[in-house]
Amino acid sequence: MIKKLLQRVFQPGKKKPAPRPSDSASLVNGHAKHIPYKVHRIDRDLINQSAIKTTEGLQKAGFEAYVVGGAVRDLLLKRRPKDFDVATNATPEEVNRIFRRSRIIGRRFRLVHVMFGSETVEVSTFRGSHLSESDDAKTAESGRILRDNVFGSQANDALRRDFTANALYYDPESEEVIDFHNGFSDIQKGILRMIGDPETRYREDPVRMLRAVRLSAKLGLKVEKHTETPIAKLANLLQDVPPSRLFDEMLKLFLSGHAQESVMALRQHGLHHGLLPLLDVVLEQPLGERFINLALKNTDERVLAEKPVSPSFLFATLLWHEVLSAWQKFQELGERPIPALHQAMNEVIDIQAEKLAIHKRYSSTMKEIWGMQPRFEQRAGKRPFGLFEHPRFRAAYDFLLLRCESGEVDKSLGEWWTKFSEANAAERAAMLQPSTEPKKRRRRQRKKPTQAQPL
Ligand code: ATP
Ligand code: MG
Repeated sequence: MIKKLLQRVFQPGKKKPAPRPSDSASLVNGHAKHIPYKVHRIDRDLINQSAIKTTEGLQKAGFEAYVVGGAVRDLLLKRRPKDFDVATNATPEEVNRIFRRSRIIGRRFRLVHVMFGSETVEVSTFRGSHLSESDDAKTAESGRILRDNVFGSQANDALRRDFTANALYYDPESEEVIDFHNGFSDIQKGILRMIGDPETRYREDPVRMLRAVRLSAKLGLKVEKHTETPIAKLANLLQDVPPSRLFDEMLKLFLSGHAQESVMALRQHGLHHGLLPLLDVVLEQPLGERFINLALKNTDERVLAEKPVSPSFLFATLLWHEVLSAWQKFQELGERPIPALHQAMNEVIDIQAEKLAIHKRYSSTMKEIWGMQPRFEQRAGKRPFGLFEHPRFRAAYDFLLLRCESGEVDKSLGEWWTKFSEANAAERAAMLQPSTEPKKRRRRQRKKPTQAQPL
């Protein structure tokens, strides 16, 4: 009923007459500036073809459609966008009907994924104000928005985006950028500014604090004073954010290519303290600091060189020194080394999981990488060959090299494995150390009851 009413009010099927292109930025459509190509200079050829096909398809069907958000911001900053999102006044059902290969996704926000070959374009319907009386928007006592599915006009949609730089709409047809909040001028000045009252906006969605830090580090934008000030005071609101969302955001932060700067900025803003156990570990642990800095540097270099990075590897590095200290603790309690390591791994993962939902597929790879570390010490008999054949050898070996570089283990161990991986069969055989196998076999014959290992 409410949806029907909204649809009638906004009449999504009827396109407004296109504004007349002009050579300078002009004020039309309420407060929006229409910025022509001559001023913004976004090269249309840099827009992803699938995104263009999507806007064209929607516009042909009589709807408004724009490339929006991060992609427009990145193009203005002369950076290659990670993804191209489209915003429209068509409802998800209408978008779904226009594109044969599309599906509606999402619960909190209903979006449409439009598929072109292996590419997917995310299409969102203009969202309205969450402050409406409608049942489709819900706010918690802290001010946090819980559900937010009200459709609205383009101006409403712009108002509920986070930063002015993220509220720009590019029309590939007219090649205009539509700017409701002076985002274009803020980008020119190198400023990241919150739309509306920053404190209210952080209360609505505390993740915006993390986004401010991440985007400013990634894009080299300065967080504007009023946008920055409330962060220190409101940092503890991050505690209310669901762990899975925090994990996604942390992943973006660590894999942005600017992890080192982002982590430093988080510390500066007091956003790490007592909030995210992972970051507490990362930032307040002198022992592991060198190891973690090396890991972040390594990740940043790989991202910037467009090499693949594995979240499991990164999280394994971030938590390694926690595992080491728990490992020592369990051994001091009388546990044998390998079971003690497995207990330590489980304990560390469990503590993190409370706040940060590390997905099972990541945590099992992390455990494999950690669990393989003691096996690098064994350089006799068949064992090195078995380890070398392990599907995770490469990741575990890279991990070992970081441990060597940080000074935790002797460099000669990493060098031995580098030589072993590059050697031929005869050279490998010559490298092996004297075998200790017989002793182990004798011990196994004693038939001790096997202890259940918590892996
Ligand atoms: P990135 O380069 O990391 O993708 P982005 O700004 O594009 O950065 P997305 O998560 O892809 O980030 O979000 C796309 C757009 O959605 C943003 O540009 C912004 O307009 C809007 N947006 C995203 N998250 C929020 C939020 N928490 N509050 C308000 N608007 C948001
Ligand atoms: Mg994006």
